[in-house]
Amino acid sequence: MSGEGAAIVDVSALPVPAGPDGIVSSARGSLRTLPVPALVGVVVVEVAAVGIVASTVTSAPRLPDMLLGAFLAVLSVVHTELATGIERIRRRTAQTSYFDLSSVWTFAAALLLPPLLAAAVVVAVYAHLWQRVWRPADVPLYRHVYTTATVVLAATAAHTVVRQAGGLPSGPSDVAGVVGIVAAVLAYVAVNTVLVAAAIALSGAGSTARDLFGRWDDNALEVATLCMGALAAVALGAAPGLVALALPPILVLHRAVLVRQLEEVASTDGKTGLLNAAAWQTQAARTVRRAQRVGSGAAVMILDLDHFKTVNDVHGHLAGDDVLAAVAAELQAGVREHDLVGRFGGEEFVVLLPDLPPGAGARDELHAVAERLRRRVSQLDVPVETTEGLVTITGLSISVGGACVPADGATLEQVLKAADASLYAAKRSGRNLVRIAGPAEIPSPRRGDTESVRTAR
Ligand code: GH3
Ligand code: MG
Ligand code: MG
Repeated sequence: MSGEGAAIVDVSALPVPAGPDGIVSSARGSLRTLPVPALVGVVVVEVAAVGIVASTVTSAPRLPDMLLGAFLAVLSVVHTELATGIERIRRRTAQTSYFDLSSVWTFAAALLLPPLLAAAVVVAVYAHLWQRVWRPADVPLYRHVYTTATVVLAATAAHTVVRQAGGLPSGPSDVAGVVGIVAAVLAYVAVNTVLVAAAIALSGAGSTARDLFGRWDDNALEVATLCMGALAAVALGAAPGLVALALPPILVLHRAVLVRQLEEVASTDGKTGLLNAAAWQTQAARTVRRAQRVGSGAAVMILDLDHFKTVNDVHGHLAGDDVLAAVAAELQAGVREHDLVGRFGGEEFVVLLPDLPPGAGARDELHAVAERLRRRVSQLDVPVETTEGLVTITGLSISVGGACVPADGATLEQVLKAADASLYAAKRSGRNLVRIAGPAEIPSPRRGDTESVRTAR
């Protein structure tokens, strides 16, 4: 960030990878493409939002509340306008769940206003966000409407919790008021998270905890934003002008999030969505050091597509790229969530398996996983668009070399060399094979690479 002063950087011209995008990717463009359970879930949540808010209305809104709601909506518009460039790129680079920093204003509205007016603020804020951020990013309208409904329900839940606790803190000794705000934050997060996770699960766009609930630091960001919203609400009670002080920290928060997301883009291989070689090596080296420190086992494998040049020669390089992406997805699907899969370069992939049992158990586990991956790739059908039309590429195979920490090396570099020597042995033995470094399999020396033999015991 050095040298940029306080200006908001408009990075919307930067290339961003295509990737999974929560329920967007499985249903881009049309509500009709949603599975029936997801469709029913969406309608139920939207009807519930309208019904629940309507049921809370006991009298006509008061003018001061209406003015306050309008003020919060204006603050949100100013916030969004100042951060539009950042928001757009955040939206496009975000994986699965997306957390919207405008909840600082919707949460303040939830704490200060009756549910009907808080819902009106949410609708105004989200209508503006749709116009400025999400429509340009090609997010389908039905998804945005659903998100709006989940926020309305979250705001109503937060409002109810704060009312139960006796309202916002009214003085230095009002502990119940503070507890009420904390409980409201939790209620808002819980309602929103559960409804978003349910939509993702029902639409079939994800099943892992991370797909459904987002990253832990995204959730931390959401809580931080709600805390700002709570402070903004309390400030509004003291002196309305003070609430403008919430804007600078929120904008700085935007920039911090963007930096993290750009880091993620910079560590991702564009063709396959896997970690790129540099990022994989950094993370794998850290994991190997930790394994050494705590005395657990770990293993590394290098996987190289067999005769991949032929795929390019026969079907073209674009088809080759599709095959690389399909193999990458297969490898990712064939390992545990916390295993590290990376593209080493060309048609070579690397996988690090942390947290294995120490000793011989690690080698057995490595062998089983490597065999599983080899088998999965050999069963892969990849439909590709070629000049001759749609062709399904089958009969792919991969050779795998593996090695363990600490048996085959104490550092990442050493185990990689051992795994590379094993890979070479697999290729020499006929391809579509797994070879693991170790007592039973001493790989043949590779000309000019005696080091790899030494480390592959
Ligand atoms: P082997 O079984 O010995 O590994 O044979 P191979 O053909 O897979 O290996 P070789 O090293 O001869 O060729 C690798 C090929 O991978 C050559 C190169 O064109 C192709 N390749 C590398 N990166 C990419 C890429 O990003 N996209 C495509 N389509 N092809 C790539
Ligand atoms: Mg190769
Ligand atoms: Mg190859």
